[in-house]
Amino acid sequence: MKIAKVEPLTTARALRGPFDYRLPERLSDVGVGSVLRVPFGPRRILGVVVELAATSDVAPEKLAEPIGALGAGVTPELVELGLWVADRYCSTASRGLALVLPPGSGTGSRAREARARTERVATITDAGREALTGDEGPRLGKRQLGALELLASAESGRSGRELAAEGADSTVLKRLEARGLVTLSEREMRRRPVIERIGAVSGPVELSAPQIACVESLVSALDGDGPRERLLHGVTGSGKTEVYLAAIEAALERGRGAILLVPEIGLTPQTLGRVAARLGDRVAVLHSGLSEGERFDEWRRLRSGEARVCVGPRSAVFAPISELGLIVVDEEHDASYKQEGDPRYDARAVARRRAAGAGAVYLAGSATPRPESWAELERLELPDRVDGRPLPPVEILDMREASPRAGPLHPTTREALAGLEGGAKAIVMLNRRGFSPHLSCSACGQAVECPHCDVSLVLGKGRGGPWRIGCHHCGHSEPPPKNCPACGSVSIGRHGAGTERIEDLVAELIEPAPVFRLDTDTTARRGGHADVLREFQRADSGVLVGTQMVAKGHDFPDVALSVLLDADSTLRYPDFRAEERTFSLVAQLAGRSGRGERGGRVLVQTLAPDAVPITAASHHDAPGFLAGELERRQTFGYPPYSGLIAVELTGADEGALAATADRLAAALRPGLSDEAELLGPAARFRRRGRYRRRILVKTPDPGQEAAAIRAAVEGKAVAADLKRGLTLSVDVDPQ
Ligand code: ADP
Ligand code: ZN
Ligand code: ZN
Repeated sequence: MKIAKVEPLTTARALRGPFDYRLPERLSDVGVGSVLRVPFGPRRILGVVVELAATSDVAPEKLAEPIGALGAGVTPELVELGLWVADRYCSTASRGLALVLPPGSGTGSRAREARARTERVATITDAGREALTGDEGPRLGKRQLGALELLASAESGRSGRELAAEGADSTVLKRLEARGLVTLSEREMRRRPVIERIGAVSGPVELSAPQIACVESLVSALDGDGPRERLLHGVTGSGKTEVYLAAIEAALERGRGAILLVPEIGLTPQTLGRVAARLGDRVAVLHSGLSEGERFDEWRRLRSGEARVCVGPRSAVFAPISELGLIVVDEEHDASYKQEGDPRYDARAVARRRAAGAGAVYLAGSATPRPESWAELERLELPDRVDGRPLPPVEILDMREASPRAGPLHPTTREALAGLEGGAKAIVMLNRRGFSPHLSCSACGQAVECPHCDVSLVLGKGRGGPWRIGCHHCGHSEPPPKNCPACGSVSIGRHGAGTERIEDLVAELIEPAPVFRLDTDTTARRGGHADVLREFQRADSGVLVGTQMVAKGHDFPDVALSVLLDADSTLRYPDFRAEERTFSLVAQLAGRSGRGERGGRVLVQTLAPDAVPITAASHHDAPGFLAGELERRQTFGYPPYSGLIAVELTGADEGALAATADRLAAALRPGLSDEAELLGPAARFRRRGRYRRRILVKTPDPGQEAAAIRAAVEGKAVAADLKRGLTLSVDVDPQ
């Protein structure tokens, strides 16, 4: 007897699979990774085969048979990876497996089979060719003759859609088929996304000596010699991408596939364009900006081996590539590698795990690596920019000394922007969108806050509409108040600046040169990022103003000035990663400047000019910063010297929420290991009308606490409350 152990693709946490099904003869080629349609109680649902067995604990006569198997399954390697993610991030097997299934598969009631689209293809037969050349044969009308000629000149079959556009419609083709002059068949279509090139694009380059050393070391690792987990630390513009490309090519030469993970694709169209230009059809892309059909077809190209390299954001770590040789994580410090939904996986951790399982090389690259990677991975270094261009000097501007009346731009900043020479461009970053982030009554001090969240409402026009005050957490929006809601005064003060206000100020300074704004208000549409970046690139001169999006890996050679406003704003977050974030933001923004012949200048405005992350970044001193940061982490017992797991509860009724949080903490504590520390429950700010409580577990090994946490969150302490509208989420390695 052949038994398939099947994980049902349902969203219910309570369902504990896998469940056994008896495989009949007709399903004999079902294996681990096959997707089956199975009877499940009164329903029919989809499930993934996670194991095959010869026996079952269930009596044979009670075992049901699957109804059928779906076309596209996955490899055992990916099944194992999906289940590992589910386990590591305290999620469910079905959610973990959904990550590795073809795009569009879905879970629960939405589970369905994603389908390839087919098209009709016409191919000319030998008889057809004869009919064209010979004097004999059937007499053909003009249209049939025309269609045959079109087909005779093609090397293989042609799609019916193309032929119809050239005048050979399906009636004509069917007549020809009836006469045996053409054959008609159906073939799978590949809906291919268009990959656009933005910014500097170069052909293959001659690698520098340091680049060659890095590549050689990676190739040895590919061939099984030396550590398989590497960190490529290279300053911005040092040619890391060329090293990735050479390593990917080496993997391909060895018959192995590769994955290149990039931060959000909209922000890094340049990397994608460069890789696609170099590797051509061997590359597939997987990201949310594609249509579902395109994503599914790119997935199929990888699954079938037509494409061997996948480029994409975090979810591309699950690309169906066999014989995987290399996984590269570009800009490995980027926070977008952490998934927000369930499971809250970290693509970097998943990539490491997948590479280890597949015997592949894991390569993380960054100018500002994470302390974790610095401590754990074997390093490769690219210490200088290509062509020996210096890193731009960084000037720190102390805003405590600037007159409050001068506004958000320091006099030096104003001068530098106003003095930009023809053809030179600048980037100005402020990590806050809108016009003014705070409004308050000048008479009584009452702040204008969101009715649903404990945050200020932000004044702004968004994409150029009328003035509104809006909440950046829940989307609440209303017209600005004319009077103070508390005392009725008409004097409402605007405080601080966001990107909209900076856009106006910069525009005044650089007239008539244009200002481009890049933030989520201007790029909400699909492809919006690329549009703004393209306009900036094409302009003869101008300034790009935006949130941290402007600091990501763009390569514009004519940027001669970078400005960072309010550089310490990220330091004020109560988070142990605040220092790391601030350092990387300053250093990354500095890296956007001086990539061309002009050289560059960097200005950093701050109220905390002596803060270590800011001074270290101003000296481009990543090693110094990271050494100090690791010491601090060790002192306080933060990652990489411990792991963290956050359990968050939300509810509309604060009293009930607090009681449940206390019960959950009490239920959790006894199951944890002796070295684990439980912190909280602590209140977090109210969001979308929901109060929040967070319990934090600090432990040397999060994996070892997973069982206890799962037992508690699925146990009695919260079960009834979850039914009453309380929500719960578990976040391993929260960011
Ligand atoms: P990074 O990824 O480290 O920021 P890139 O790989 O984007 O650096 O390289 C920066 C620029 O230098 C790119 O325009 C790239 O084409 C160019 N470049 C990289 N390596 C070389 C080389 N060996 N010779 C000449 N140009 C190079
Ligand atoms: Zn007032
Ligand atoms: Zn709100």
